[in-house]
Amino acid sequence: MVDKMLKFINIGQQSPPKREVANRKDDFNEIYKEFIEEKAGEQASRCSQCGVPFCQIHCPLSNNIPDWLKLTAEGRLKEAYELAQSTNNMPEVCGRICPQDRLCEGNCVIEQSGHGTVTIGSVEKYITDNAWQEGWIKPIKIKNEKNLSVGIIGAGPAGLAAAEELRKLGYQITVYDRYDRAGGLLIYGIPNFKLEKFVVERRTKLLEEGGIKFIQNFEVGKDVTLDQLRKKHNAILIATGVYKSRKIELPGNDLGNIFSAMEFLTASNKKGLGDKVEQYDNGTLNAEGKNVVVIGGGDTAMDCVRTSIRQKAKSVKCLYRRDKKNMPGSTREVANAEEEGVEFVWLSSPKEFIGTNKVEGLTVDKIILGKPDDSGRSKPEVQENSEFNVKADMVIKALGFDPENLPKLFGSEDLQVTRWGTLKTDFDTMETNLSGVFAAGDIIRGASLVVWGIKDGRDAAASIKKFLEKKELQKEKVA
Ligand SMILES: Cc1cc2nc3c(=O)[nH]c(=O)nc-3n(C[C@H](O)[C@H](O)[C@H](O)COP(=O)(O)OP(=O)(O)OC[C@H]3O[C@@H](n4cnc5c(N)ncnc54)[C@H](O)[C@@H]3O)c2cc1C
Ligand code: SF4
Repeated sequence: MVDKMLKFINIGQQSPPKREVANRKDDFNEIYKEFIEEKAGEQASRCSQCGVPFCQIHCPLSNNIPDWLKLTAEGRLKEAYELAQSTNNMPEVCGRICPQDRLCEGNCVIEQSGHGTVTIGSVEKYITDNAWQEGWIKPIKIKNEKNLSVGIIGAGPAGLAAAEELRKLGYQITVYDRYDRAGGLLIYGIPNFKLEKFVVERRTKLLEEGGIKFIQNFEVGKDVTLDQLRKKHNAILIATGVYKSRKIELPGNDLGNIFSAMEFLTASNKKGLGDKVEQYDNGTLNAEGKNVVVIGGGDTAMDCVRTSIRQKAKSVKCLYRRDKKNMPGSTREVANAEEEGVEFVWLSSPKEFIGTNKVEGLTVDKIILGKPDDSGRSKPEVQENSEFNVKADMVIKALGFDPENLPKLFGSEDLQVTRWGTLKTDFDTMETNLSGVFAAGDIIRGASLVVWGIKDGRDAAASIKKFLEKKELQKEKVA
């Protein structure tokens, strides 16, 4: 098959007539499809059907991986897709961006025995992309719409998964979001090179076609209070994610060209979606030709360094206060960044931003790792008289996210939060202390993963169903 592809790519050096171009494109797509199908089948057939599905156990959605791998290996792609989507509302998204090395693939028995994991994520992506192409994925059709409505605040993976599950049960669903597009961090956080935006947009379009109402550019707390929304719907789900960037207060903080990760990534994603982004076009939020320094060691930092490389930055450095072994980001992402030319400055902590109006560099302290702290991780300690300077025309702070003050923002001071500011919910039902108000995703977990958001959304939907059924029963009894 590889030979067939290469032969195809190499044929004909002159420009062919228009019609021929069209045919060649179709032929290429066909051959490419065959090639990918063969690769997916090959990978799927490597699954040893080991009997103890560690991959499934370590998938937050408990996806039935061994069975859909078997079906793929046998060429039964429609059944493989049906099985994959029965536990996951966005298998093609998870297949692309789950940190599989920490989840399913990291626990594959073949990987443990040193023979390289079955590439579960790629197969999951393939099965679902193929289902889209074949037209097997259809909007929700409900027979009897219930006279009960659920308001969902937040159109990220948690909100969308809950919306789909509840709509399938016949409830009237309205999703409110303060952004202009649905998708949450799938649209404005995660870069296009990891997750193409059309993949997210076709999902939300499908949900809309299935009767879910989306109200965009609508901020709960500003356009309506939580109480007003509670009066409008029979139940509410809060799935607002976490958006307060963690700060690093250093001398020189106010200099120009120092940005938060979300400012930088949102501008880049908006540009990729075809929007006019003035701050990108005028060079402010564009890394082209600049010496970029990213502070942080998580996956968001990796997205910033890799986006900077794609924007043709002159140099890209990542400052992290621990060493490579102790980095919170996915090892796969770090390896990708290194391969693309990012320079990691391990064991380094910024001390001061230098410059006149705009940032021109940073003074950095060297770090030594001390004894483990309460979290069990080695404590970073500044090495005395170790400071050095790093040149920078643009600094991006990627130090993580905390929840916003939702009780204050929503005008519901009685809404209970944990000491980390995440919403406090009942462990089993995911209900907050306010009756009929549930919560899911990052707003209850803190910054997490898409797959956990989907899992929460599905679980919250099941609880909301129980809550509404119980309420209806009580009403019937009274009547
Ligand atoms: C840069 C970056 C890269 C990431 N990469 C990955 C990755 O590769 N793999 C992975 O698994 N995870 C990744 N994550 C994490 C993942 O994106 C999140 O865990 C996931 O999106 C959380 O889903 P959610 O639905 O809880 O919240 P979100 O996706 O944040 O969605 C919340 C939605 O609520 C809306 N909202 C908030 N407040 C209000 C309000 N008051 N009124 C109305 N709407 C409101 C927001 O506009 C948003 O659309 C990444 C995160 C970031 C920041
Ligand atoms: S959802 Fe994520 S963890 Fe689960 S099988 Fe798919 S890629 Fe692996």
